[in-house]
Amino acid sequence: MLVGDVAGLLMPVTGEGIGNGMLSSILATESINQALQLDTLAMPRYSSKLTPLIEKIRATFPWFKRIEEAAKNNPRNLPPTVRDAYLDTLQNF
Ligand SMILES: Cc1cc2nc3c(=O)[nH]c(=O)nc-3n(C[C@H](O)[C@H](O)[C@H](O)COP(=O)(O)OP(=O)(O)OC[C@H]3O[C@@H](n4cnc5c(N)ncnc54)[C@H](O)[C@@H]3O)c2cc1C
Repeated sequence: MLVGDVAGLLMPVTGEGIGNGMLSSILATESINQALQLDTLAMPRYSSKLTPLIEKIRATFPWFKRIEEAAKNNPRNLPPTVRDAYLDTLQNF
């Protein structure tokens, strides 16, 4: 059962990972507790709880393409693009 950075939960644009590390740790412990109480497996429960968070992180990936394209086309475009990527990521978390 992986949590935090090693589970790939670092936010790519902002480089923040403490919040997602704590959240995934809570989800993991809740899943283990429930599995012990119900005598079932913890991992399927944890995976399903983690999926929405992973989807949110995945949704930030297109920003990398946009940053790369902005840098190639005109490096002067880069600061506003990076700013927009940062603000968009913050809005989603
Ligand atoms: C310079 C910098 C600035 C950052 N600033 C921010 C910020 O402002 N806000 C934010 O949210 N995030 C920030 N982050 C990211 C944040 O630090 C990480 O996302 C967060 O610490 C991840 O927590 P974690 O528990 O997953 O991993 P870690 O904090 O890396 O903990 C993993 C631990 O496991 C230990 N370990 C590794 N291998 C073994 C082993 N074999 N046996 C035993 N122990 C082992 C390591 O020594 C480490 O202590 C920053 C990161 C860096 C590098």
